[in-house]
Amino acid sequence: MASRNEHTNNQQPTHARLASYAADETRSRGRRFAESAPTFRGEYQRDRDRIVHSSAFRRLVYKTQVFVNYEGDLYRTRLTHSLEVAQIARTIARALGLEETLTEAICLAHDLGHTPFGHAGQDALNECMRDYGGFEHNLQSLRVVDELEERYAEFDGLNLMFETREGILKHCSLNKARQLGELGQRFIERRQPGLEAQLANVADEVAYNNHDLDDGLRAGFISVDDLRGLMLFGRQYDAVLAAHPQLTGRRLIHEIVRHMIDYVVTDLIETTAANLRTAAPQSIEDVRAHSAPLVQFSETVAQEHLELKRYLREHVYRHYRVLRMTTKAQKVIRALFEIFMRTPELLPPEYQQAASRLHGQHGESGRARAVADYVAGMTDRYALLEYERLFDPAERS
Ligand code: MG
Repeated sequence: MASRNEHTNNQQPTHARLASYAADETRSRGRRFAESAPTFRGEYQRDRDRIVHSSAFRRLVYKTQVFVNYEGDLYRTRLTHSLEVAQIARTIARALGLEETLTEAICLAHDLGHTPFGHAGQDALNECMRDYGGFEHNLQSLRVVDELEERYAEFDGLNLMFETREGILKHCSLNKARQLGELGQRFIERRQPGLEAQLANVADEVAYNNHDLDDGLRAGFISVDDLRGLMLFGRQYDAVLAAHPQLTGRRLIHEIVRHMIDYVVTDLIETTAANLRTAAPQSIEDVRAHSAPLVQFSETVAQEHLELKRYLREHVYRHYRVLRMTTKAQKVIRALFEIFMRTPELLPPEYQQAASRLHGQHGESGRARAVADYVAGMTDRYALLEYERLFDPAERS
């Protein structure tokens, strides 16, 4: 069989240009359950495909980033967010000679564990789970791909490659890390993940900073005039208007955002390439052993990025209309959690089974985990519907 390196079409396979420090699948730490090698695709391609076929991935379309799903069709959802993260990260991966497909797989999976109603939902569920080990969306993403997806005859979860799972688990408390075996080891030893994982993490920030700004403008929470005072935005605003003095409205905003993404991505590639030349890692193990992440912005852009992030926190994430939604969302999450904890018989049969199985193994905390899995898996609209079914006397279903 022809090796993938022998392709001659002009769309070069990334494998052929893989740098020594990239996550080469032939030297992967592999899967938890041994499987025969795929015939027509790479191992990381198989991971990406499994993620795209998962139920949790499909639910991302009805989960919120900042705005609740029903507020308008043009706002980002977790699905469009994940796709934007993946495409930003793939460009960077390719430019740096990293494993592009692995990078994509991590990006597509990074938000699978998110609750309904964005961060408000995660905070509310974490609060509910305080006495039962807490709830953290990052760990939940790992739980989804390791345990919760039920698709394969021979194992629970998606049985992804170690490097994909390493990328999904961006952060983790020491306590949790100790329970995670090999995957938790780097948090205990303070080691870095592979470059593809580092990249997916930064691309996530690039994506949400830019699209939350765009969504914030669309919602009318912030204005172009307000944003001109920010370094990142102001510079691109001046550049775009210098080239196109007549440009206004949505087209002006899109041009600015497009230039902003290009500017930070270029900086990230150049700074990371320089870091790689200096550190000269020869393998992913060298990357993991390095004292700090190598995927970095320059000092200047890191500051500019932080300024934008703080601005968005103040003016978009804490806007009174978002806070109203947040408050309502917390009430829904709390009410659902409490009623299922008190009366697990109200859970759908498969979650009842999970609740009694986990209760048998871990007592009250086990039941709470099963309830949290159910609530976390809900989309925004499903959570609202479930709330109505359980608490609205007029609702008959
Ligand atoms: Mg994200």
